[in-house]
Amino acid sequence: MLEKDKEYGEKTWRKIEFKDIFSDRKRNRIIGMTFPSSNIKLGLEPSVITVLPEGDNVEYSLKNIDFNDNDVRLYVCSVYISGYDEFVSWAFRHNKNKIIVGGYQPTIFPEEFERYAFKIVQGPCDDLFETIKQPGQIVTGITNYKRVPRYDLYKVQWNQQIIPDKKPDDIVTSINTSQGCPFRCDFCCTPIMSPKLISKPIKLVQREVDYLKTPTSKMVVYQR
Ligand code: SF4
Repeated sequence: MLEKDKEYGEKTWRKIEFKDIFSDRKRNRIIGMTFPSSNIKLGLEPSVITVLPEGDNVEYSLKNIDFNDNDVRLYVCSVYISGYDEFVSWAFRHNKNKIIVGGYQPTIFPEEFERYAFKIVQGPCDDLFETIKQPGQIVTGITNYKRVPRYDLYKVQWNQQIIPDKKPDDIVTSINTSQGCPFRCDFCCTPIMSPKLISKPIKLVQREVDYLKTPTSKMVVYQR
């Protein structure tokens, strides 16, 4: 690749999913993504669905494919330590001014993301718009506990965490009833995300349980 072409990234037709581009030409998309890319066999726990706002222009993408920047308002990227390289490669091919990052890696090492995102969110967040309204590139996530996570964008069946004695057809999911921890165990990053223990209002927990219950599902809900 010529030096002058590097600024255009590595976008090739091979990396673009045509059905995504031509489907219904959605505009103003807000796309939630998780890095490393989701592997359903390993099970998912996409915290980004807590961050994604209301609206039918909002989606959660399981594939870290290339999107058409012109159709997208925001990319909301949750980056784990193991997904950093994958994120960088993807971010180089997209408009930095539309990329928001959050999660463990951006919270601990925000300076690593200054080149790739216009907002770097530290800690938990459930109010995306108020959070990104704050001045500066690195901002603290705002949580106001008014909304149920966007389970409608996501199949709870994918959330197959490792639960002892879980049978293949059992559907298992979890609800975070609190966040943070005041202790400092060496191996744990929870206090870095949130150094105070904050409980979710019980009414919101109830709404979340009600949302997840369906008459036909045999589901176990873990509260933690
Ligand atoms: S959440 Fe993490 S820091 Fe807090 S007690 Fe448990 S392991 Fe230790």
